[in-house]
Amino acid sequence: MVGRKIWGGNGLGRKMVGRNIRGGRMGGGNMIRLFHIVIVVLAVAWWPLCVGAGDGRPTGILTALPEEMQVLSQHLKDKRTRTFLGVTFQTGKLQGRKVVLATSGIGKVNAAKTATLLLDRFHPREVIFSGVAGGLNPDLSPGDIVIGTRTAQHDFGKLTEREFEPQTPTPETPLFIEAPEALLRAADRVAARVKFDPILTTRGARTPRVIRGVIITGDVFVASPTKVAELRETFKADAVEMEGAAVALVCWQQRVPCMVIRSISDKADVGAWEDFERFIKMASDNSARFTLELLRVLAEQPVARH
Ligand code: SAH
Repeated sequence: MVGRKIWGGNGLGRKMVGRNIRGGRMGGGNMIRLFHIVIVVLAVAWWPLCVGAGDGRPTGILTALPEEMQVLSQHLKDKRTRTFLGVTFQTGKLQGRKVVLATSGIGKVNAAKTATLLLDRFHPREVIFSGVAGGLNPDLSPGDIVIGTRTAQHDFGKLTEREFEPQTPTPETPLFIEAPEALLRAADRVAARVKFDPILTTRGARTPRVIRGVIITGDVFVASPTKVAELRETFKADAVEMEGAAVALVCWQQRVPCMVIRSISDKADVGAWEDFERFIKMASDNSARFTLELLRVLAEQPVARH
């Protein structure tokens, strides 16, 4: 028997078209009700993705150093702290948006550990890394901002007597991690409206510029013109730092949108250490200000998972 009318009272006179989970027959009225429930459940599940907001998930913001977190932390409202495995996370609101902030410490191991805890404990909708970097692109000066279109680990690969070869990409660990276009577009909007203090140089005042660029990451502070030339040649990179690609990879593997924002503190050359000490505060603040403005843009036009 293919079907039989089992409910006379539903007024629809439908034939049985399915089975319930106990293996019994299911009536047309039940099927319609089930259909309605499925529609409602799907609508509830999809709504946040459609409108990109309202699911209450925070934006995660990481920095490596306390200096890089200072301005963000100062602006944080409804501040609360929670510590996991020795990493302290600050929750609250920035620009009216729910955020989780953490300072990872220097280097890829610390960055990956903090990113993993952030994703596991707070389920952020997207992750932004804000901080300072050494400039590889000769056009960049201290205070300028690089919006990371892609990141790579520059010290991960094969080393022979003659040469260094970057890692062989695998499906779970690509050489370059691309930032999602939606976050990059939001950053472009910030670039068009963010205001920075002019920087005084020996040749007069200059306004910091913002570019899209490639950011590479390794467990060394680069202060070597030879290394700068090699990194530029191998990775076509604009800035070098010590955490971004680690965070981007952890996020990419979990399908959480991630973007690295860095302001130039030095030029990774022989004067890098001195410049770093001199410009760390100004560059950290520029990156934090850019990130604050980015939160405002994201509040206007949120980014869904990719
Ligand atoms: N003050 C620390 C060192 C900071 S390392 C100490 O005393 O040990 C530099 C930090 O800034 C890292 O978090 C890195 O991401 C970034 N950075 C800035 N300039 C850099 C450069 N030239 N090479 C690598 N990382 C750089």
